[in-house]
Amino acid sequence: MSHDRHLVVFSGAGLSADSGIATFRGPHGLWENTSIDEVCNFDTWEEHRESVHRFYNARRVGLAGVEPNRMHRLLANWQTRWRTTLITQNIDNLLERAGAQDVLHVHGFLTEMRCLACEAVWDIGTTAWDPSQDRCPNCGSDLAVKPNVVFFNEPAPLYGPMSDILGSLGQDDVLVVIGTDGAVVPIGRVAERLRCRKILNNLDPVAPEEFVPGMVHPRQFNRTLFKPAAQAAGELDEIVTSWMEAWSGSGL
Ligand SMILES: [Zn+2]
Repeated sequence: MSHDRHLVVFSGAGLSADSGIATFRGPHGLWENTSIDEVCNFDTWEEHRESVHRFYNARRVGLAGVEPNRMHRLLANWQTRWRTTLITQNIDNLLERAGAQDVLHVHGFLTEMRCLACEAVWDIGTTAWDPSQDRCPNCGSDLAVKPNVVFFNEPAPLYGPMSDILGSLGQDDVLVVIGTDGAVVPIGRVAERLRCRKILNNLDPVAPEEFVPGMVHPRQFNRTLFKPAAQAAGELDEIVTSWMEAWSGSGL
């Protein structure tokens, strides 16, 4: 067995859906009742500051009422067994609450605020931010403080590290993709060119009429599990364990 065999898990909204966190897209997505452009556009958010804070406050405070599910706990457990990197598009803290370490939140982290004036980032837990009186603890700014969540038209600084990690996967490594169709981060295209072992867990396959390049497709993966993440955890654990602990001839 290769000592530095690397397991990378790339997850999206489907991972947290079983914990009761609404997915941002899809038929019952969060966006249905809120204009995306009002609460998630870096170019215009300051014009809608109150709505932005109201929207993310509700999400943040709501985290206190949800629990990690079986899949979050499994991913945290993998970190205790193997060299495991967790990359997620989710902004919730359920992986951390399941015990996961050093999760790469490529679209930001809901419990943090960020000051655009001084670039300070700090954690406020599951409390609400009051834009009428709360201030940046570093520079005192009020108007420059936004949720530390990557908005549309805003740079995503962790995309670079994410690409480096995914690009480093070799044939002995393992990629697990959970709960994302690849519409935002084109993980299907990434999976297609990687030579490592790959498995996909999504609720359903992407419908042919909705497929665009970059999205996930069964042909890009060695295995697929189409069922809710929490229900897939046991089977996924068996498959990934067999791959991670398989004898490897390389290096001998
Ligand atoms: Zn500041």
